[in-house]
Amino acid sequence: MRLILLGAPGAGKGTQAEVISKELAIPAISTGNVLREAIRNKTPIGLEAKRFMDNGQLVPDDVVIGIVEERVGRDDCRNGYILDGVPRTIAQAEALERFGVAIDNVVSIEIEDSVIECRMSGRRVCDRCGASYHITENPPKTEGVCDACGGELVVRADDKPETVRERLAVFHRLTEPLKAFYEARGKLLVIDGNRPIQVVHEEILAALGKSV
Ligand code: ADP
Ligand code: AMP
Repeated sequence: MRLILLGAPGAGKGTQAEVISKELAIPAISTGNVLREAIRNKTPIGLEAKRFMDNGQLVPDDVVIGIVEERVGRDDCRNGYILDGVPRTIAQAEALERFGVAIDNVVSIEIEDSVIECRMSGRRVCDRCGASYHITENPPKTEGVCDACGGELVVRADDKPETVRERLAVFHRLTEPLKAFYEARGKLLVIDGNRPIQVVHEEILAALGKSV
């Protein structure tokens, strides 16, 4: 199963990717998490990516394409994987096709723009493993501590309202056209993301033909 999760910032891609990854025993690959780790480690890619991410802009396609090409070639991707937050441009989607990645399904998780600010202001992410929580919708068992790895939960620098507005505009301009791209290839499944996490999850599994 090679699956792409598409959707606006805050749509719930990371939340769903984490659960589906466990259920289907395939890795979830989040380019956002890879880039944030590169920033923490102060690698050349991290240093380049930071100035784009801080401003809510996309990191250049060649950087992201290089990351994904290397990652999907690893052993743990042999039985499939979930791409969370990539591709984000037509150029990235075309690059995946060029290096022979056959995508089975693309799930577009759709939410209203008006919901996004609440999602982002309540989001807390683990600074060690990247897991995503929400202070009311999906709280951790212990406040401030990641259930999965015990890491510290933090507010993402790019979740402040002015950056979120920019990221949303970028989404509509550069990423949303991917829906038509994958619809034309018969791969697109659209899911209403404005419902509770568990309901969205069950809808995704049902759309993929997996038992709930
Ligand atoms: P994305 O990866 O698409 O940017 P996340 O999965 O990090 O989004 O979700 C954004 C925020 O919204 C997180 O705080 C998450 O806990 C919360 N969230 C995710 N899905 C839902 C949902 N269906 N209903 C309410 N809150 C949700
Ligand atoms: P995310 O964690 O998916 O919300 O991504 C956070 C930020 O990382 C985005 O706003 C971009 O700056 C950058 N980023 C993540 N994935 C990509 C991608 N596929 N293409 C370009 N930039 C990306």
